[in-house]
Amino acid sequence: MDKQIKPILEKILEELKEKTRFYNVRLVFCGESGKMGIIFKVIDDATICYYTRVFKYIDDPIILRGLIAHELGHIACKDHLSHRIASRPILLVLVMTAAFFIVKHLLSLIGFEHVLINIILGLIIPPIIGSVIIHSNEYCADLYAAKTIGYENLLEAYRRFAQRSRNGMKLIDILYPTIDDRITFLKEKFMKEPSKNHSL
Ligand SMILES: [Zn+2]
Repeated sequence: MDKQIKPILEKILEELKEKTRFYNVRLVFCGESGKMGIIFKVIDDATICYYTRVFKYIDDPIILRGLIAHELGHIACKDHLSHRIASRPILLVLVMTAAFFIVKHLLSLIGFEHVLINIILGLIIPPIIGSVIIHSNEYCADLYAAKTIGYENLLEAYRRFAQRSRNGMKLIDILYPTIDDRITFLKEKFMKEPSKNHSL
């Protein structure tokens, strides 16, 4: 199966390399995606992993082109502040700890001091911060992809992807923007700023 999909993905990547000038990026098959439903993942600034789930989209190069453009967006967004935080576990822990104590302090100012609040904060704050960082990274990658292949092309890729992916909530959807969130984001972004609606 990998022999069938690899040339298709390579062809799309070659075309996008010309547009993005990320000439050293390569695709590597990384096996099963597990329960997270991951299709692609950027490992470093020159490697995009693809997983078994990509086979489901082998017949639709429009979807694959949108997804690969999005992954190149992750490489392009590497200097993004949130990515810098998210990619350094120590920094992420520091941010979460600081947020925990700030919220705890604010709550104590208005008289909330209870062990239960500490437990709830400890459980709620880390996923919220994680989700904010992930959302910021995902939308940065989506914007880059929209500029690379054109807003309409990315939107069409996401629409087709959404039609194929409506089979229940996945674990990954809790922290990540859903495909519908991304479509809404792109529409709002490019309708407000029509001048950005072009290919690079
Ligand atoms: Zn992404």
